[in-house]
Amino acid sequence: MASQYDLIIVGAGPSGSTCALYAARAGLKVLLLDKSTFPRDKICGDAISGKSVNYLEELGLVESVQASPQVAVSGILFSAPNGTKITVPFIPRENSKVSPGFVCRREVYDNILFQEAKKNVETIEDFKVTDFLQEDGRITGVTGTNADKVEKQFNAKVVVGADGYNSILSRKLGFYEHDPKHWVVATRAYYRGVTEMTDAIEIHFVKDVLPGYFWIFPLEDGLVNVGIGMLHTELKKRRISLPQAHVAAVESPYFRERFQNAELLGKISGWNLPVGSKQRKASGDGFVLLGDAAGLIDPFSGEGIGNAMCSGKIAAEVLTEVCKSNDFSAQRLREYDQKLWQELGDELRTSTMLQKLGRFQPLLNLVVNKAAKSNDVRTLISEMMAGVTPRSVLLNPWTYLRLLFV
Ligand SMILES: Cc1cc2nc3c(=O)[nH]c(=O)nc-3n(C[C@H](O)[C@H](O)[C@H](O)COP(=O)(O)OP(=O)(O)OC[C@H]3O[C@@H](n4cnc5c(N)ncnc54)[C@H](O)[C@@H]3O)c2cc1C
Repeated sequence: MASQYDLIIVGAGPSGSTCALYAARAGLKVLLLDKSTFPRDKICGDAISGKSVNYLEELGLVESVQASPQVAVSGILFSAPNGTKITVPFIPRENSKVSPGFVCRREVYDNILFQEAKKNVETIEDFKVTDFLQEDGRITGVTGTNADKVEKQFNAKVVVGADGYNSILSRKLGFYEHDPKHWVVATRAYYRGVTEMTDAIEIHFVKDVLPGYFWIFPLEDGLVNVGIGMLHTELKKRRISLPQAHVAAVESPYFRERFQNAELLGKISGWNLPVGSKQRKASGDGFVLLGDAAGLIDPFSGEGIGNAMCSGKIAAEVLTEVCKSNDFSAQRLREYDQKLWQELGDELRTSTMLQKLGRFQPLLNLVVNKAAKSNDVRTLISEMMAGVTPRSVLLNPWTYLRLLFV
């Protein structure tokens, strides 16, 4: 059967909408499907890093973000388990007045990306993909139900799984594995009225959740995004209830005063973060996986939006050539995995190492104490966060010894 589309993209979060936008620019015929109707919420810390801002700039969407409810952030406040605090400023973007990062609720941010995609490709909201079509072992399309509960099928040259951590494609094809060593679980709650807020995002290495952290991120109109994230293995081993750990952090002596008159809006929600501390397979006959479906979240920072957008762009580039070649085999599509890991591999490996080091309280205390005293250390951390540290420096053990002994 002739394909109706070049690409069917399942999921219109940051990875799917970004892929749709770059694919549309390359002239591909795309169908973008999502089970939700936009705007929709997504449980997240809502921090939009410099990496994401790069893609927003390329897609001409920075002004839309700036014109929407958000906070432009200037740096990160870290606190060590012993309570020492430092604020590390973000490095300003080269030749650009755009903020190096934002905090923007996902209901707002994802809608900006999706509405832009909707102008450029065919979209169907409220369409839940329930299965895949296969011919001779190759994925050739999807089946699902629309808003009226009517079942529909669509076929395409390539199916793109951008449907998040619980991706139906990875589950059905047996790619999905709940490996607690490579899985972070996190809470998120919105508050109003938290005191001492600035325009820096706050990451607190609270003793009881190492290796993990408690965050407090500023939002518009006095809103604040608060959460706690922890490796699943540690949760299981220490039998910790994450919502209880969240409440315990808020009520702890360090934060109690700041939350004294704060109002919790809605409930404390939880969600999963498949982190890229191992390389998962992200393609096969007739399909590729993006973003959380491919497990690309940074294991140390928990940042996944930038890597999701990155995977969307790389997939669009590779699939443009694939569609020209008319070869949709697993072997041909492996180029996507290769390019993806060429781009993200070093960074993910470094973050995996930092995640492991983050277990050691005395080390965190030492680094934050050093940074509190040394401008050099703060600059090095700023550069690492901005992603401007050359790979050779990032992968060199002396870089980390410098953090300790400078
Ligand atoms: C608590 C928490 C805090 C986080 N904080 C941050 C942060 O501050 N900064 C950051 O960069 N990252 C953060 N992350 C990670 C970030 O949320 C993800 O990495 C990012 O959302 C991945 O984007 P995605 O497009 O791959 O998937 P998603 O954003 O999950 O989008 C998937 C889309 O697929 C749709 N879908 C799912 N199933 C189907 C189906 N069967 N049929 C049709 N559509 C379907 C969904 O409706 C959804 O719109 C956090 C994650 C969590 C859980």
